[in-house]
Amino acid sequence: MSVRVELLTYINQLEIIDTHEHLPVREEARPQDTDVLGEWLTHYFSSDLVSAGLSPEELEVARDSSKDLLKRWQLVEPYWHVARSTGYGRSLDLAAQELYGIDGVTRKTIGPLSEAFCAARAEGDHYRYVLKEKSRILLSINDNECQLDCDRRFLVPALRLDQVYFCPTHRRELVQRGDAVGVSVHSLGDWEEAMRRHVQRAFDEQGAVALKCGLAYDRSLYFAKTTTAEAEEEFNRLFANEHSPDRRAGIKLGKPFGDYMMHSLLALANERGLPFQFHTGLQERNGNVITDSNPTLLTNLFLEYENVKFDIFHMGYPYMLELSNLAKNFRNVFIDMCWGHIISPEAARRSLAEWLDAVPANKICAFGGDYCFVDGVYGHQKLARENVATTLAQKVVDGTFDVDRAKEIAKWLFVDNPTKLFSLEDRLAVAKQE
Ligand SMILES: [Zn+2]
Repeated sequence: MSVRVELLTYINQLEIIDTHEHLPVREEARPQDTDVLGEWLTHYFSSDLVSAGLSPEELEVARDSSKDLLKRWQLVEPYWHVARSTGYGRSLDLAAQELYGIDGVTRKTIGPLSEAFCAARAEGDHYRYVLKEKSRILLSINDNECQLDCDRRFLVPALRLDQVYFCPTHRRELVQRGDAVGVSVHSLGDWEEAMRRHVQRAFDEQGAVALKCGLAYDRSLYFAKTTTAEAEEEFNRLFANEHSPDRRAGIKLGKPFGDYMMHSLLALANERGLPFQFHTGLQERNGNVITDSNPTLLTNLFLEYENVKFDIFHMGYPYMLELSNLAKNFRNVFIDMCWGHIISPEAARRSLAEWLDAVPANKICAFGGDYCFVDGVYGHQKLARENVATTLAQKVVDGTFDVDRAKEIAKWLFVDNPTKLFSLEDRLAVAKQE
């Protein structure tokens, strides 16, 4: 047996932690009015199709399950053909083959595949089948914004406050959010108190295991140190007559306000020693500004908030070497490979090989599916296990370490590191009981 086969066999039997998903909070909450093209083109591979030349308008037609399936397939087929071998494409082919027993996504198979997809949806046992039986995932950390109530057999929530506290557009939002936690909001200080209570409740009563920031989609990840006065001036615009009645157009608060709120949230996280997941690197959908999401932009936060565990997402792609430097340098910076094995399987392998030479092996989490639909998770975890096995085997062959050490590292990356980083020991016990 080759070293790679031995390691892959070992890794395939591991029950793993999944650091990041965007799944509907329970199986019944999945969109019902859909078919295989409608759901599988929700994200990721759809962006590769657009990159290959499909127009955004054609993509909307392809997603529309009320229209004829074969006609929609014909629309995407030439682009699917050229994009099939990307990580995104391979993940879907793996799902077709190994979840539904159908040989990939093609003109011949799309009809039977969609029938099998709809039949599985009607059965209502798909989360258990995909996440537990096929993917051997112990728990997935799920980002569904502020929605924390989720099926605890499979999911534990991350809390994402970006839209709520960083980007209010009307005074009404302040009133509603404040009411929910018993704060009457008239000042920036009241607003921070509402956020503090929200975080407290989420972690103490509602089972949140991490904070999450997705702001790199909307702005630079550099959060300057701003004064309370600057932030307050922005905040007070929400009370101006011209924006105040609900029916009037909302406003976009300026960068100093977002900067201030991030520091305020990090001060809370620092007090409690919370893990904080940051989106960095590639952004989903087409036509984004990649330089906004360079993880080195967060350096001032790493320096100031020493007690926060910064979990840096998506391998920082394409800033993997920068992330290597940060994780090597800072005690409170961790590398998270979520989304990475399908963004580029080759980049995932090469980066992991580099990190294992530069960064202590307790600083890396190997897998997060990062899908909005559960079928994608299967293909991604399969590619992740293969990539880690291939990289570790190469290290054994070149004499960096032996097979036993490679197995030890594999278990750290897939199980022990995320369990420790997110303090999941008790949650795992609950998930097993339910
Ligand atoms: Zn995500």
